[in-house]
Amino acid sequence: MLIPDRDFIVRTLVGLVRINSVNPSISPDGAGEAEIGAYVARTLAALGLETAIYEPQPGRTTAVGTLRGSGGGRSLMLNAHADTVGVDAMADPFSAGIRDGRLYGRGAHDMKGSLAAGIGAVKLLSDARIRLRGDLVVAAVADEEYGSLGTADLITRIKTDAAIVTEPTNLDVCLAHKGYLWIDVETHGKAAHGSRFTEGVDAVMRMGRFLAELERLEVALRTGPAHPLVGPPSLHAATINGGSGLSTYAAHCRLQIERRTVPGETADAAVGQIRAIADRLAAADPAFSATVQSFFAREPFEVAPDAHIVRVLAAEAAAVLGRTPAFVGDTPWMDAALLAEAGIETVVMGPIGAGEHSAVEWVDVDSVVKMAEILARTAVAYCA
Ligand SMILES: [Zn+2]
Repeated sequence: MLIPDRDFIVRTLVGLVRINSVNPSISPDGAGEAEIGAYVARTLAALGLETAIYEPQPGRTTAVGTLRGSGGGRSLMLNAHADTVGVDAMADPFSAGIRDGRLYGRGAHDMKGSLAAGIGAVKLLSDARIRLRGDLVVAAVADEEYGSLGTADLITRIKTDAAIVTEPTNLDVCLAHKGYLWIDVETHGKAAHGSRFTEGVDAVMRMGRFLAELERLEVALRTGPAHPLVGPPSLHAATINGGSGLSTYAAHCRLQIERRTVPGETADAAVGQIRAIADRLAAADPAFSATVQSFFAREPFEVAPDAHIVRVLAAEAAAVLGRTPAFVGDTPWMDAALLAEAGIETVVMGPIGAGEHSAVEWVDVDSVVKMAEILARTAVAYCA
């Protein structure tokens, strides 16, 4: 019998939530991951794991524990981020108080409950004296909420056969999430005295033409074909700057667009749609000139429902929960995409809760304990 140690899991979760691990790239007074990384490493070492601390940047700590297998089995990573968003507007962000089966605090749901479940899975294997054949890696990564320094660094060091990113999914199995691109558009005009309309070329007016076309594309995207799990692609005009003074024709106008992509879309094609608008406007008016450039991209993520790790996880979840978990998708980007790009078969599943990035955040304690059992059983079946 595999029975999770509920007291240990709750104690570990309380310990995690009480440590400030606010991402300092989001909130300048955030503590970063050094203290929580040390806590995770200590806890995993006490369970007999080989532990390592990596610092992709000073103070930005990823803690990793490896439960060495006896050899010949598949390896599995349980990946959870240890950083959280800021605590503005939260009454008591590090209380870890429990009421009506819910544990409250910043990061309780996103995603210290998940991390506690991963550690609880290892405790369960240790209590049951189960020796896996493949390695089981528990990773508490840095900086997922901002630049994903932690997982980006980790995939250069450790390559497992599969990974479960334990971002909260209300105990459903998440097979896909969106990607995104940031795109810079600049219209070029010609500066001139505000009275000299024969000389000036107004870059801001030209951006207006561009925006009118962009809005048509925006509507077409979100009302067009949708991905079955994550919905349609979308874009928004995020920031705009142009002109240098009231009595000067604007020489430049700069727009920054965010484009959310769905699995199956390529970044090149998404940028191509936007470049096509600039090309059309230039063909219609030789005085229209614009440049379009993508400066940051994160890939969407998708795994097949019949992938090995998905089948094992879904079957073990069904056994623990007494129901077949739904296959779902989610819209925000996650570290799952980086792991999948590194050739690691990846799936996402985590506990029940609410309030991530909001003023009141909680995780359902029972669901954390269930998640620990699901992860332990999945490791037994997958790493055999
Ligand atoms: Zn998260």
